Amino acid sequence: MNKLGFGLMRLPKLGDSYDWDAVSEMVDAFMAGGGNYFDTCYTYLDGNSDIAVKKCIADRKDRSSFRVAEKLPGYSCKSDEDLQRCFDESRARCGVEYFDVLLLHCLTIRNYAIAQQYDQFRFLQEKKAAGLAKRIGFSYHGNAALLDEILTAHPEVDVVLLQINYLDWEAAAIESGKCCETCRKHGKSILAMEPVKGGTLAQLPEEAEKLLRSVHPDWTPADWALRFVQSLPDVEIVLSGMSALSQVEANIKPFQPLTEDEVSLLMQVRDIIEKDTAIACTGCGYCVPHCPKHIPINQIIKMYNEFSRAPSDIWKVKAAYRHLTLSEGKASDCIGCRTCEKYCPQNLPIAEHIKTISEKFDK
Ligand code: SF4
Ligand code: SF4
Repeated sequence: MNKLGFGLMRLPKLGDSYDWDAVSEMVDAFMAGGGNYFDTCYTYLDGNSDIAVKKCIADRKDRSSFRVAEKLPGYSCKSDEDLQRCFDESRARCGVEYFDVLLLHCLTIRNYAIAQQYDQFRFLQEKKAAGLAKRIGFSYHGNAALLDEILTAHPEVDVVLLQINYLDWEAAAIESGKCCETCRKHGKSILAMEPVKGGTLAQLPEEAEKLLRSVHPDWTPADWALRFVQSLPDVEIVLSGMSALSQVEANIKPFQPLTEDEVSLLMQVRDIIEKDTAIACTGCGYCVPHCPKHIPINQIIKMYNEFSRAPSDIWKVKAAYRHLTLSEGKASDCIGCRTCEKYCPQNLPIAEHIKTISEKFDK
C-alpha cells in the first residue's frame, strides 16, 4: 500500500539554483517505486517548482505516465485576466497541455471571499470543460463548518486538498478529522498535505520518540506520521515535500496500514507534543512577506519553541535571535497590526505570540 504524492516545494539546491539532476534522480526513484502524482504551485520556489515539472518530469517522461496537480493563487488575482495569466504561465512553465488536478491555492475565509467575488470556481469549471483540467478543487486551510459551506455552494468541486496529520486531527483551528468527514459527506476525493506538519512530526520530544521506538525501533517519527495519513481509507494521495533521494526511497516503500493500537499510541504521542510545543506554527512562512516591520515571524517562533522545550538553552537561543535580528525586524518592532494573521493557514494569533516572544527575547 502506498498513496505517496511528490510535493515539489522543497527541492535540493545547487548554488543559487536548483540541482535539477538530483531532482530528476528523485523523480526516477519515485516513479520506479510506483509513484506518479506530482504536486506543484504557481508560487512555490518562485516558480521553480513548476519548472521542475518541465525539466525533470514532462521533458523526460511520457505524459500518460504521470499526474500533475497545479495550484493557482486566486487570492492575488483580481480579474479573470490575472487568473488566466497565472494559468497560462503555469502550463508553459510545467510544459504540459493539461493538469490532472487544478486547484485554487489556500482557501481560507478571506481567500474564499476573493474566490467568490471574482467567480474563480467558474474559471476552474471552464478549464475542466475545455479539457485543460481533469479534476478541479482547492487546497484548504479552515475549519469544517466553512468547508461544508464551500462544498454546499460548489458541488462542481471534485477534490479537496486538506491538511491532515495526527497532531491536527482534533485541533480546533484545523479540524483534520472533521474536514475529512465533511468531504466524505459531500462525496469529494481527499488529497492530504502536511502529513509531517512542516517537519514538526519528524523531530519529536525525547519521551515521544522513545515511545514510538519501543514498538518499532526501525521506524522514524516521520514514517509514523506518513503512515497515519496513508492508512486513512478515504485519502487518495498523501503529499510529502521531499528534498533528498534518501527521503524518496524511505517514503515510497509499501507498508501495512496502522493497527488500532498503533493509532492509539500516536494519540499518546500527540498529547506529549502538545504539552511540549508552545506555538503550533508549521514554519510555512506565508505570513512573513506581509509584515510591514519585516519580522521573520516563522524563524522567531521556531526559536521560541526550541527555547520552550529546553529553557536552560535560553542563552543559545537568544544569541541566535540577536544574530537573526541584526538585519531583520525584532519581535519588539511589532505594531500589533495583525496583517500577518490573515495569511496564517494555522489561524494563529501571531501578534499575541510575538508580544510574548518579545517579552522573553528582547529584554
Ligand atoms: S502584527 Fe506584528 S508581526 Fe504581524 S504583521 Fe503586524 S507588525 Fe508584523
Ligand atoms: S505563523 Fe502561521 S503563516 Fe506564519 S509561518 Fe507560522 S504557520 Fe505559517
